[in-house]
Amino acid sequence: MRHTKVKDLLSSTTTLHEVNAKGWVRTFRNNQFIALNDGSTINNIQCVVDFENTADEILKRITTGAAVSVTGTLVESKGAGQKYEIKVAQLEILGDSDPEKFPMQPKKHSLEFLRENAHLRVRTNAFGAIMRVRSVLSFAVHNYFQQKGFVYVNTPIITGADAEGAGEMFQVTSLPIDHLPKNEEGNIDYKKDFFGKHTNLTVSGQLEGETFAMALGQIYTFGPTFRAENSNTSRHLAEFWMIEPEVAFNDLDANMDLAEDFIQYVIKYALDHCGDDLKFLEGRLLEEEKSKPQAERSEMTLLEKLNFVLENNFKRVSYTEAIDILRDSTPNKKKKFQYIIDEWGADLQSEHERYLVEKHFKCPVILFDYPAKIKAFYMRLNEDGKTVRAMDILFPGIGEIVGGSQREERFDVLVEKMKALGIDEEELWWYLDTRRFGSAVHSGFGLGFERLVLFVTGMTNIRDVIPFPRTPGNAEF
Ligand code: ATP
Ligand code: MG
Ligand code: MG
Ligand code: MG
Repeated sequence: MRHTKVKDLLSSTTTLHEVNAKGWVRTFRNNQFIALNDGSTINNIQCVVDFENTADEILKRITTGAAVSVTGTLVESKGAGQKYEIKVAQLEILGDSDPEKFPMQPKKHSLEFLRENAHLRVRTNAFGAIMRVRSVLSFAVHNYFQQKGFVYVNTPIITGADAEGAGEMFQVTSLPIDHLPKNEEGNIDYKKDFFGKHTNLTVSGQLEGETFAMALGQIYTFGPTFRAENSNTSRHLAEFWMIEPEVAFNDLDANMDLAEDFIQYVIKYALDHCGDDLKFLEGRLLEEEKSKPQAERSEMTLLEKLNFVLENNFKRVSYTEAIDILRDSTPNKKKKFQYIIDEWGADLQSEHERYLVEKHFKCPVILFDYPAKIKAFYMRLNEDGKTVRAMDILFPGIGEIVGGSQREERFDVLVEKMKALGIDEEELWWYLDTRRFGSAVHSGFGLGFERLVLFVTGMTNIRDVIPFPRTPGNAEF
């Protein structure tokens, strides 16, 4: 008999028919009740075993983690919290799981322990829920852009451009590391390497994306991105997924509108399509909150937070206004957290961003018009000559979730900027062609997909929202 997904069984409209379910045992109580999960939903289906007519050898093998196949009748359940259960007529153990050795027993595990078992942690309720939410969110990303007529572009993963992300790039070579050919000066001769030049893994698809936007009008990328982040934080991965839309003829205001609309759409989509998983994750967070002192507890539940983002506009604030707020907000310089920022032009630290979002505005914030000196070379210079049309979107509990800008469309201004920063014009000849042939106002942004998943799931460490996290010293799986 063909198996039916647990999710479909639980939403069945008829009972008393014969069904088959296959999945993994979560728990087995009183030698009778199997809580069976097959990954299709956070909910288990209860399977009631006729223990009097089942051999002891079989009963012994129904352990947490074992794969089983149950065939029986779908009946209404008398137990609380479940509509249906399966009255088992036939049970088959598909794969045993030694209870002494299976690490994912139904108890609370530390997140650190679970990370060390990234291949098995997905068997837990929380990680099953997170991975389903992640999957639905990626679908929502495509849905949003496709509905709006954006073209999905796959920018290269191996790139030859060195202009961005200096010091954060993973190098790519086909040669054995200890036999890299040297030139006469003793430097590595990349001309003899596979591509005939120095190459690395992409840190962003933006520059390539711009060239496509300047032909297709509106494009987006959604792909893996690599940064050799040398610090261990709860917000950075060495391999993450980035969504980068780029739109011709959009200025920074239109870019902000797009980012806000997009984020609200995907969050709404998750609420509409992952209600059970989000409710479960909310419950898990509420449990965690109980062990915290009252003052540290969150004012809103997870679902309240998500709905809040949908119902409220993001606050748009210029960098200069933000600096004034931060200056005024320093009540006492001796305090542990000094929100003071010494001078206009300094980059904001995460404590400043958190203050603005969590304490001052208490909502998502779009900061724009940053000092040119702290932003990338391709951003549109404002008439004041010192700020650029950049924006960062900051989220409560996360910090920066989006970085974007209106791009410098003026050839001469762009070249001058590159010169000043020592960026090789020849290397970016292809990028400069967008400004040579039919240049126009355009803008775009990059959104770190895992930071979005963090926000939606209420998790706090980015390692817990990607299947196999890549961080310094960690590429075990
Ligand atoms: P941060 O200040 O947090 O290091 P960034 O300014 O270096 O981020 P951008 O170059 O603006 O990042 O990239 C766009 C987006 O990609 C960021 O807003 C963030 O959401 C995400 N992002 C950047 N670096 C990482 C990373 N190492 N891991 C996960 N997401 C990242
Ligand atoms: Mg960074
Ligand atoms: Mg940043
Ligand atoms: Mg940024």
